[in-house]
Amino acid sequence: MEIYLDNSATTRVCREAAAACCQAMETVFGNPSSLHKKGFAAEQLADQSKIQLAAALSCAPGELLFTSGATEANNLALIGAAEALKRRGKTILTTAVEHPSVLEAAQELERRGFRVKILPPAGPEGYTPEQFAQAVDEDTILVSAMMVNNETGLILPVKQIAQAVKAKNPQTLVHADGVQAFLKLPIRLKSSGLDLFSISGHKAAAPKGIGALWIRKGVRILPRSFGGGQQAGLRSGTEPVQLYAAFGAAAEAQLPYLQENLQHYRALKAGLLEQLAAIPEVTVHSGENCAPHIVSLAVRGIRSEILLHYLEQFEIYVSSGSACSKGKPSGVLEALGVDRRTADETVRVSFCADTTKEMLEELVFRVKEGISSLAKQR
Ligand code: PMP
Repeated sequence: MEIYLDNSATTRVCREAAAACCQAMETVFGNPSSLHKKGFAAEQLADQSKIQLAAALSCAPGELLFTSGATEANNLALIGAAEALKRRGKTILTTAVEHPSVLEAAQELERRGFRVKILPPAGPEGYTPEQFAQAVDEDTILVSAMMVNNETGLILPVKQIAQAVKAKNPQTLVHADGVQAFLKLPIRLKSSGLDLFSISGHKAAAPKGIGALWIRKGVRILPRSFGGGQQAGLRSGTEPVQLYAAFGAAAEAQLPYLQENLQHYRALKAGLLEQLAAIPEVTVHSGENCAPHIVSLAVRGIRSEILLHYLEQFEIYVSSGSACSKGKPSGVLEALGVDRRTADETVRVSFCADTTKEMLEELVFRVKEGISSLAKQR
């Protein structure tokens, strides 16, 4: 039995998304910019996909912009907003636990003459809205804080952060990277106080190569690429309607099960933590303040790559928790107070709706076995 526990890295495409993609490629293959019937049908499918996604985000369909993924959405949010607001101020505020697609975009803004402030967590519990309120001033044009961290599942209270930021400076825009929260936790963008929100298809049972940026009505950002003026001039290029259709279908298929899945993840996590608590070598980094579908854990004495490949022999797939891209430490665990050695011994387990209690029991069994057999080799 294959036990895939790396769903925060990417997911299997669901049947509904694959079917919608194939159907669009075979029958609705027109260019939505074309003026004839084939173009109109493609445009309609694109609009329908936005309606499906908007239902999962509780926003207006017209506020959604399709991108190639969340990396592009995050880059567009940060750089597009900063460039649009540069006459008003020069400071961007973000956190030490963001994904590289936010932190590297912030670094690019620094090279362009903006000031970037990176907030460390208030403590192992994570971030508080007050920290943001304190750090925001009249020069702050943009705040970017992720909703769920991809390494430990840490939840940042983005709604309260947006409130605190706006109370201090109503002009400051607030962006949230929602990749690891989308279709996992309830999201209501309309009443969130946020202005920009990024999501990615392949973390939510849609194919790779599609994502979206929500831009609250009335918020102006500048484009990063130029061409035929598609998507209101914000992202030129012929639109991959088959990927839109897949993304919309994936959202529509999963949305009705969100609460049920959330309960399922909570039960899985509770069971896993209980079993892990009985293993003295294991430290868990994902506590109460973390989303229930991600569990980050360290096994004392076994480097994460060693454990990852050990588990792989039994068709159990996890990710090495400290690496954002192969071999490069991400700094997230360090920011959360995890020492370097423990960070190097950290693996991340992430669930999907199909994950079962039995799969996690098998994982724990193999981890225990690994502890004794790998320790003997040392
Ligand atoms: N943000 C977070 C929190 C992520 O986990 C990821 C994917 N690792 C991204 C952004 C980038 O998403 P994409 O792969 O769609 O570019």
